[in-house]
Amino acid sequence: MRRLPIFFVLDVSESMIGEPLRRMEQGIEQIVSTLRQDPHSLETVFISLIAFAGKAKAITPLIDLVSFYPPKMPVGGGTALGEALDVLMEQIETKVEKTTYEKRGDWEPVVFLITDGKPTDNPSKAVQRWRTEFASRASMVAITLGTNADMQVLGQLTENVLALENSTEEDFRKFIEWVSASVRAQSQKVEVEGKTGGVSLEKAESSGMTVVDNVDTFAVTDPDFVVLTGKCSKNKKPYLLKYARSKTDGISFIKTQHFGLEGAFALDEGYFEWSSETTTQESVNTSALDGVPPCPQCGNPTSFAICECQRLLCLDSTGLATCPWCSKSLQFDMSGGGGNFDVNRGQG
Ligand SMILES: [Zn+2]
Ligand SMILES: [Zn+2]
Repeated sequence: MRRLPIFFVLDVSESMIGEPLRRMEQGIEQIVSTLRQDPHSLETVFISLIAFAGKAKAITPLIDLVSFYPPKMPVGGGTALGEALDVLMEQIETKVEKTTYEKRGDWEPVVFLITDGKPTDNPSKAVQRWRTEFASRASMVAITLGTNADMQVLGQLTENVLALENSTEEDFRKFIEWVSASVRAQSQKVEVEGKTGGVSLEKAESSGMTVVDNVDTFAVTDPDFVVLTGKCSKNKKPYLLKYARSKTDGISFIKTQHFGLEGAFALDEGYFEWSSETTTQESVNTSALDGVPPCPQCGNPTSFAICECQRLLCLDSTGLATCPWCSKSLQFDMSGGGGNFDVNRGQG
């Protein structure tokens, strides 16, 4: 039997924490359960999941629909697109059967690359290798969630670039349905026509996406989120504070520079395994951030104290703590006269 390999290359960087990641997890489950109901797909479709943040890994190597079990998505700091492409190419090389004189191999793989931000590594070598060695024998659709991805890089990888600009639950649901329908169409195509023809973008626009014909003219925006990484001073585990850009009132062409608290998320050590070692120098002033949540790990009243090492930690009411990052003993003034300061942003 010739398999139809479908690769999902999924961005699990910090900015995806919370709602977007939950939707992605549910979306993958939805795609698999939809395809299981289709006899063509059930016979031919094999799925692989590659996740990438600061690091990239195949979290589900190529597997049939019946055996597929939805994995829990990791989260990390960074957007290592180059590394993700390397993992993808390695998976295609080792898991997809090539056609030889003796044997007909698998069908041409289809790749859905889903990202929400700009690469934090240098992907140019991997992009070049994709173009010369893989682009002719795999088809790729690149989808950006929001409008701050690097369109130039995506445009070098594939002609099929889509943007899901709106972020409502309903838009995401339509997007997932479109992906399922596209995979189903491919599996019927191989059965009827004996070949894959690449994914058709015909119905993408009616499914709420923008087909990006010209990557040069697509309006790329600044991120709408600020994500900060802290460590609990009690259990030393990491947490993320996610702030979303405040919506302007009325009609305005100027985006506000204020960010309101969207959530505080407790993480486990796996976060560091998925993060790149290098930290970005980009910082944000605390005056732009509204809202200080309690520590999502231990419940300490503030999750927003900063050490001399420039990192965040949580604090109880005594103001005494040992920095979980650099082990320095700290004494904070809890009288409220702290003022504003710069804090390093996450890598998105
Ligand atoms: Zn804590
Ligand atoms: Zn420190």
